Amino acid sequence: MQERVFLSSPHMGGTEQKYVQEAFDTNWVAPLGANVNAFEDAVKSYTGTKAACALSSGTGGLHLALDLLDVGQDDIVFCSSLTFIATANPILYLGAKPVFIDSDFESWNMSPYALKKAFEKYAGLGKLPKAVMVVNLYGQSAKMDEIMEICNEYNVPVIEDAAESLGSKYKGKMSGTIGKFGIFSFNGNKIITTSGGGMIISDDEDAIAHALKKATQARDNAPHYQHSEVGYNYRLSNISAGIGRGQMEVLDNRVAKKREIFDRYKAGLQDIEGISFMEELEDTFSNRWLSTMLIDHDVIGKNYLDVINMLAEDNIEARPVWKPMHLQPLFSECDYFSDEKMDASKYLFDHGICLPSDSKMSSETQDVVIQKIRAFLAK
Ligand SMILES: *Cc1c(COP(=O)(O)O)cnc(C)c1O
Repeated sequence: MQERVFLSSPHMGGTEQKYVQEAFDTNWVAPLGANVNAFEDAVKSYTGTKAACALSSGTGGLHLALDLLDVGQDDIVFCSSLTFIATANPILYLGAKPVFIDSDFESWNMSPYALKKAFEKYAGLGKLPKAVMVVNLYGQSAKMDEIMEICNEYNVPVIEDAAESLGSKYKGKMSGTIGKFGIFSFNGNKIITTSGGGMIISDDEDAIAHALKKATQARDNAPHYQHSEVGYNYRLSNISAGIGRGQMEVLDNRVAKKREIFDRYKAGLQDIEGISFMEELEDTFSNRWLSTMLIDHDVIGKNYLDVINMLAEDNIEARPVWKPMHLQPLFSECDYFSDEKMDASKYLFDHGICLPSDSKMSSETQDVVIQKIRAFLAK
């Protein structure tokens, strides 16, 4: 059995330990300190946003964003269906109800058509959502112009779940900077990691100051411990932020490598009939966090799970595409709006595979993966 080939694993750049050491040397082994500030500054200048608050997870960032938009009991939130559960869970934390929106085939992300349908229905019911949560899946940007236009028409703020798309661009704008709030994740398998962490960004400096307050138990400005609103314990530690600081220095290298990996898969597999890749939308730039493709089992006679199982036998890690939220038992009661012609997110789930996209993977190893897939699908 060969050495494990990972889907996406932590990849240190080299300076992370220096920053972590600094935290020890100054005894700032706490959820504040020089690394936290420097990490936030690095993300602010990279994305060109005015304010940022480092957090212990991306999920915490999504929770805070919803809270800051005053989402509460029995409110409605529109949310991309094709995503990781972490996008939708915070809606439940606040007692609100998610309404799920399908993807379209071009972007794999929120379908403007389905979003419009959802708005028409809920405007008709006199119950507009408090927020719209848009995901940029696997680094691919959603159709943000169309989505923002619809949301602005109804005056509903957008939260951009950019957990998977740090470093991606939409028409020259960095992913996460288009909506009212953007959220990044630094979980172990993301494009860069702090071993676990997240960040909320916005051009609204007051809102991020409020996020910081809420992330640190919402303490009022008083000599004693006084609280007048609900808070959380969501701040990132100065140790983790040290890792993040080092990782920001290599982010562009990681993006370049991930894009190279995607291009290599495409060159190596695209001639197989029944295979197609997630294409970049015009005028967008994907960080290609995970290389994803569709396998048409009607044409090929094998499906995505067959390929995943075949690779697993050789210690190679591949995964299905996220199972859409509207197909999850947890959300079986929730409303759902499908794309124009068919349920696109269900189709993407039924046919999609995330290929090993580890930035530490060598071209030789990737060629082995490509050859195995070719041999298997040609059989
Ligand atoms: C990873 C991820 C999150 C959650 O981030 P954590 O830091 O793990 O809490 C949220 N949304 C999406 C789409 C993700 O992939």
